[in-house]
Amino acid sequence: MPKRTVADTEVKGRRVLLRVDFNVPLITETGAISDDRRIRASLPTIKYLVEQRAKVILCSHLGRPKGKVVENLRMAPVAQRLSQLMGLPVGTALDCIGQDVESKARALKEGDVLILENLRFHPEEEANAPDFARKLARLADVYVNDAFGTAHRAHASTVGVARHLPAVAGFLMAKELEVMSQLLDNPEQPFACLIGGAKVSDKLGLMQSMLRKVDMLLIGGGMAATFLKAQGHEVGHSLIEEDRVSLAAKLLQEAEVSQVSLVLPVDAVVAEEIRAGAPTQVVSTTNVPPGSRIVDIGPKSIELFRSELKKCRTVIWNGPMGIYEIPQFAQGTRSLVTFLATLDATTVIGGGSSAEVVQEMGLTDKMTHVSTGGGASLRFLEGTALPGVEVLLDKEQ
Ligand code: ADP
Ligand code: MG
Repeated sequence: MPKRTVADTEVKGRRVLLRVDFNVPLITETGAISDDRRIRASLPTIKYLVEQRAKVILCSHLGRPKGKVVENLRMAPVAQRLSQLMGLPVGTALDCIGQDVESKARALKEGDVLILENLRFHPEEEANAPDFARKLARLADVYVNDAFGTAHRAHASTVGVARHLPAVAGFLMAKELEVMSQLLDNPEQPFACLIGGAKVSDKLGLMQSMLRKVDMLLIGGGMAATFLKAQGHEVGHSLIEEDRVSLAAKLLQEAEVSQVSLVLPVDAVVAEEIRAGAPTQVVSTTNVPPGSRIVDIGPKSIELFRSELKKCRTVIWNGPMGIYEIPQFAQGTRSLVTFLATLDATTVIGGGSSAEVVQEMGLTDKMTHVSTGGGASLRFLEGTALPGVEVLLDKEQ
């Protein structure tokens, strides 16, 4: 059922606690924000609240301070960047709960924006401690969650707080849910899922769920080796999860029974070492030399994947085709991104690394949707309920 959004809620003159995912990457040496995409992604919700004359109280976590105050994980630089992007002053606070913040929140005027200090400076945030959630809730009259990226976590600011305030979705959250629900409930067919990344175990749930939905499942990346092994091929020193080989075999069988065409790479780029400049060769996946490991899909596989995907009206992609962090091993991933960008189909990208590559190549606008939530989108597509979504009011409630 669709969730009620900030647009269905009276916010004028009210204090709105807006959970955002401002967990932006920081440059270690300087503390500068290296990528402000997550801040930009919530601008529509923040701007709307300001225009509606709400009193906006933002909260987020940043990095992994593990329940303690960590000076270089304060929210000040984030507030500064937000202020630049909005062209408005953004207030900061020394904490996210307590008397000082409470009086700051009470003093807000309509259209003001305040950002609370890093939620994870308190261990109670991740523990979803009821008292901490109550203290957060005390700051506001309405709760809005726009942090899709943390919706799979039951924390005080994503779940606990919703017990005390009317809880609705922000525009980013609503968009993510709309796109992904559409994929699960009513995808235009043929429907393909392209999966890559390091490990079978990370994506097992996704593969199982997708087998029930898609016409085609294409598998690249590190996990392909486990499937090749399940088919009885030797894969040298490739990344293998021995304990998942039988599961991979079962998935291959399931695909056959449900008449899903499961496509594996036919060739691969192999190297003896994972490092830039390592000598590589292209081999058939039935013929991986003993001392080498698969680092990318090969040119024939790229061609094969393209020709299969070309038939599709809907494509989900999650996980790189190779060790894309090393440019030499990024060819498979990059060519498929380029291809997806030109495809006349609904294209949805989930997964942190995958979204990063699309962004880096400047092709975000060429996709139907690039999810801001790696883990959350994975869980959602697996069919797992997200705790941070469950607690939001239904549209008809
Ligand atoms: P996403 O974040 O898009 O969901 P994952 O986190 O599942 O993707 O996987 C990303 C990782 O998978 C990358 O660090 C990449 O280096 C690794 N990877 C891809 N192909 C291989 C391979 N053949 N061998 C080892 N690691 C791989
Ligand atoms: Mg990842």
